[in-house]
Amino acid sequence: MSLKLSSRHEWVRKSELRAMSVECERVGGVNLSQGVCDLAVPAPVVRAAKEAIDRGDNSYSRHDGTGVLRRALAEKYQRRAGLDLDPETDVVVTSGATGALYCSCLALLEPGDEVILFEPYYSYHESTLIATEAVPVFISTKAPDWSFSMDDLEAAVSDKTRAIIVNTPSNPSGKVWTRAELELIADFCNRHDLFVFTDEIYEHFIFDDLEHISVASLPGMWDRTITMSGLSKTFSITGWRIGYAVCPSKWAGAIGNFSDLVYVCAPTPLQMGAAAGVLELDDEYFVKLAAKYRRKREVLCAALDKAGLTPCVPQGAYYVLADVSSLPGKNSKERAMYLLNQTGVASVPGESFFKGEQGKGIVRFCFAKEDDVIEDACRRLETLHGASTQKAV
Ligand code: PMP
Repeated sequence: MSLKLSSRHEWVRKSELRAMSVECERVGGVNLSQGVCDLAVPAPVVRAAKEAIDRGDNSYSRHDGTGVLRRALAEKYQRRAGLDLDPETDVVVTSGATGALYCSCLALLEPGDEVILFEPYYSYHESTLIATEAVPVFISTKAPDWSFSMDDLEAAVSDKTRAIIVNTPSNPSGKVWTRAELELIADFCNRHDLFVFTDEIYEHFIFDDLEHISVASLPGMWDRTITMSGLSKTFSITGWRIGYAVCPSKWAGAIGNFSDLVYVCAPTPLQMGAAAGVLELDDEYFVKLAAKYRRKREVLCAALDKAGLTPCVPQGAYYVLADVSSLPGKNSKERAMYLLNQTGVASVPGESFFKGEQGKGIVRFCFAKEDDVIEDACRRLETLHGASTQKAV
């Protein structure tokens, strides 16, 4: 038989994030690896989705989303970011923020175009670029503030650079980008005529009185910015696959056409549930959400400290990077496996987020879990201290 896999299959490997979940299930452990949100879905979201199914709202929606969701999102961006969006042309509902990035890359990048990505990065960002034949170019940042300078940006740019990826708050570092940093990005992108692909899916998960700033809201940035987000995290509906891209109609049309081609539309009744959430849940819901996650962050970071796995306390999102360099192992995959076998707590090896050496001594934990799950994980982690030093001797 001469049948074989395409040469493209090499570009997309099974995500390490999923691989650790499989390992965790095998040992019956507590899974703090994948960014799967276990929390309850808000009542209006569930109600409206069920009503839509019962009403028979079960066929394809318009390829770029139901009117009610597009209008709800346009109104939200007007209110929160001062953006004057046309819900008919500037909002594309997609299959998750993941679908929004994939379709944006297909619509806006040529094969060989370079795209600047900050390390540590969310591995799907890198993989999506590779799968769409773009070339990621990395700027390395370091804990605790993951900062960068104009010199770093200038060193990464070439005549092939077409775009830069911003992720605020960031997965995995939890960095909340400051206005000054985003102004640097704006200046840089205006001078080099670049797109900004900004993934703002964690915009409501911000701690310590910091502020979320949408890149598109900065002066002069609307025209070149593709804002990608979704409701997976905010409403704990990661399996519903509802996300979106917001951008000028001259880009949104082609992004929508690719989304139509690959997904036809996002699930119609679930779009109705998401729309009810966007319309009905007020600021109080989001303030409480952030406070709830802040408490989870405190509990997990305290346990990591006690276990001798120093955390880099995140400013936003719902992940924490921890230093596991004291654990036995040549790299973070071996260290994460050691941790899983000793404590039953699954994490993601740092190599998933870093190109360079930095990732070898780091793992990521997700705290989007019910309190009893986090407490169980913390008890398990705290048993580590004795175990790891004994083994290491
Ligand atoms: N962007 C980031 C930064 C994420 O961390 C995740 C989930 N891990 C996603 C996008 C995926 O979002 P969605 O479920 O909307 O595809």
